[in-house]
Amino acid sequence: MSVAYKTATAHGAQGALFTDGINRRYVSGFPSTEGMALCHAEGVALFLDMRYAVSAENAGLAEEVTVIRCTGGISEEVKRFAQDKGINKLIIESTAVTIAELERLKTGLEGIEFVPVNNICGTARQIKTVGEIACIRKAQSITDKCFSHILSFIKRGVTEKEVAAEMEYFMKKNGAEGLAFETIAVSGAKSALPHGVPGDDVLTENAFFTLDFGASYGGYCSDMTRTVVLGKANDEMRRIYNTVLEAQKAGIAAVKDGVYCKDVDAAARGVIAAAGYGDYFTHSTGHSLGLEIHESPACSPKSGDVLRAGMFMTVEPGIYIENLGGVRIEDMVLVTEDGCEDFTSSPKELIEL
Ligand code: ZN
Ligand code: ZN
Repeated sequence: MSVAYKTATAHGAQGALFTDGINRRYVSGFPSTEGMALCHAEGVALFLDMRYAVSAENAGLAEEVTVIRCTGGISEEVKRFAQDKGINKLIIESTAVTIAELERLKTGLEGIEFVPVNNICGTARQIKTVGEIACIRKAQSITDKCFSHILSFIKRGVTEKEVAAEMEYFMKKNGAEGLAFETIAVSGAKSALPHGVPGDDVLTENAFFTLDFGASYGGYCSDMTRTVVLGKANDEMRRIYNTVLEAQKAGIAAVKDGVYCKDVDAAARGVIAAAGYGDYFTHSTGHSLGLEIHESPACSPKSGDVLRAGMFMTVEPGIYIENLGGVRIEDMVLVTEDGCEDFTSSPKELIEL
């Protein structure tokens, strides 16, 4: 019995209806831009139009998943299915269904009561299965390969956009299904912007160059950040870099099953504060990820969540000084009973190119 169906029965409903791409993929194993997935007592019904139905039938999906061809409209097929099964109450994901969509559901599936529920799949999506872990491992191995490739591409005169484009091309060429998120490649003063956008400027010499990037594989994301220097780092840059590196190592050392997320944040933040840069670390230490690049829980100062074995977390402290630049170092780790496994294998010592 699926987690989603269990949640549905707890709410007095006979199933869970997913209209968003992420949850639909999670419960069915099939990616599509449109469709609906209904988790009911006997399995998962995946409603797809003819752009997707044939591919889904041939995708070797789990036995519990039945693909339903929707030649005359998705709502119509869901309605017919619900009538056949005697379904008159469904839960829907409250964070994924818009008000407009709910109105459409109520009109298209007249007679069915919809109950919005937050986080229907609960912790099941947080604790990764063997198959999910394998996808993330592959995504990260492509990402690590990309980092070593891009080191030979970075040189005087190239632009941030050229570097980002080369990285994206390399990841796709080396097996990525797509990007986990838009690549961040920001140089010089712009490296002080944690989510800066690559531009047409050539890389600044003797300055930080921050690369935050990831691939997706089987729908699952990887996420890493390295900061390098084109030219030479001065003493202050070296001090900033090494502080972030120590903070990142302290954060990773704190990750373990049963540990509070806020304590991982405190371990990393403490190192940065002790070095006098506390005011310049302006975001959380890390986040979970999976089908989405940012998933719950997060290692933030106020989080009340606890880490559990099988969760993936990033550990990514940074120091950002306006008009000077910034450093962030990010690895992705799998929480285990006695610590964590670091899935990121790229070197972390300061690299000057
Ligand atoms: Zn990142
Ligand atoms: Zn991240």
